[in-house]
Amino acid sequence: MADFDYDLFVIGGGSGGVRAARIASSEGGARVAIAEESRMGGTCVIRGCVPKKIMVFGSSYPQLVADASSYGWDARIGDFDWPAFRTHLHQELDRLEEIYRTNLTKAGVEIFDCRAEIADPHTIRLADGKTVTASHILVATGGHVDFPDDRARECGISSNDVFHLDALPDRLLIIGGGYIACEFACIFNGFGTKVTQFYRGAQILRGFDEEARGLIAEAMRDKGIDVHLGTTIIGMEKREGGIWVKASNGHEAVFDKVLFATGRSPNTDRLGLEDAGVKIGRRGEILVDAYSQTNIPSIYAVGDVTNRINLTPVAIREGHAFADTVFGGNKRSMDHDLVPSAIFTQPEYGAVGLTEEEARDAYKIEVYCTSFRPMRTAYIDRPDRVLFKLIVDAESRKVLGCHIVAEGAGELIQLAGVAIKMGATKEDFDRTVAVHPTISEELVTMRTPVRTS
Ligand code: NDP
Repeated sequence: MADFDYDLFVIGGGSGGVRAARIASSEGGARVAIAEESRMGGTCVIRGCVPKKIMVFGSSYPQLVADASSYGWDARIGDFDWPAFRTHLHQELDRLEEIYRTNLTKAGVEIFDCRAEIADPHTIRLADGKTVTASHILVATGGHVDFPDDRARECGISSNDVFHLDALPDRLLIIGGGYIACEFACIFNGFGTKVTQFYRGAQILRGFDEEARGLIAEAMRDKGIDVHLGTTIIGMEKREGGIWVKASNGHEAVFDKVLFATGRSPNTDRLGLEDAGVKIGRRGEILVDAYSQTNIPSIYAVGDVTNRINLTPVAIREGHAFADTVFGGNKRSMDHDLVPSAIFTQPEYGAVGLTEEEARDAYKIEVYCTSFRPMRTAYIDRPDRVLFKLIVDAESRKVLGCHIVAEGAGELIQLAGVAIKMGATKEDFDRTVAVHPTISEELVTMRTPVRTS
């Protein structure tokens, strides 16, 4: 390794790259450098999970204040100061970015604040003109927003722009039915924007449990979001006073902003991957084995650029496993099975394991499910419903999937995820005494399957 400038050069300072760099340096004793062309922290910290979640918190106050009033408080919501919120949000992101930098420096990692490209399997070309060599290269460049076409790019905005808006839009159209579309529909609706959402398919959140998707769509509509299913844009142009849009269902309106949340693609363009001989998949993703190694032995890749499970904690685990394997003398791969996740719609959705539809195809199953009005909101006559669902393998009795739609579902699914990862059976859930009165006690009190197969 001594012939190279570094033992490891990481391209991309997001969740996966930063974790790998720190562990390789501080625990593996490697000489490590990292290059980031934008801001340290990557999508999650700068333009994804973190600012999104803060917006979720911010947007939930009008409902909370209305609830407080229903509970007897003399509470009224005033005006929302978007510029003040946005300034504070960016101060927080600056603070977090600084922490990322400090932690890298403390771990002995050298930082290059510029773009890096691969010149050959051991050589990296930096945008500042320098060329450096490394025994190993880790590509952790994440993904980028995809606009469906030039017209969308010209008339629309993406989730990257949402955190920089000059003003909150009065009328917002959101295109897409995935995580980002649904989360921002709820956020802006909470802030008081009139939100319309067009999704081309039959139900939002494709790939998730059908019953949960249905309940979330219903809740979003109840809260005032105008959700149009089976709907696409057939005409769109910038006009005086906004963006005119005509939909395939005949709906025609002018919006202040049109947010395209139509998916993301791996950042593999102009990285020198093809020249280095690295194999790329159909969707532009870097193809890797279980140890995140590409077909070129010195080049590895982790996180969204590999398009496995595109979630921050997965990228972090992949980066850590890579560093342990290559520099820590501990060969191990990331376990991609039973990864819990949450969608921060309002209400939230937490899921781990199989959907009922997936389980039905592969197993003989029992489905335990309950949907009800929780005490906190039923008391003030809000229509909100929650959903708790366990999908059980009728033969092994193992819980194959758990789906929760409720306030705090993200927190709940983390804990249910531990039990399910341990292989908990339905009877293990049943043996656990309920915590009363909570909504999640239903997870351990469902006695009779609602469906079997
Ligand atoms: P998704 O792939 O989840 O959703 C994209 C949506 O856009 C789908 O509804 C898709 O429809 C639709 N779409 C795609 N192309 C077009 C088109 N040409 N015209 C109209 N609609 C289109 O991507 P997101 O951007 O929402 O999120 C990207 C990733 O980021 C997620 O996969 C997730 O891994 C991660 N993420 C995770 C979050 C979390 O954990 N809470 C939050 C946000 C993002 P169709 O279903 O028909 O394909």
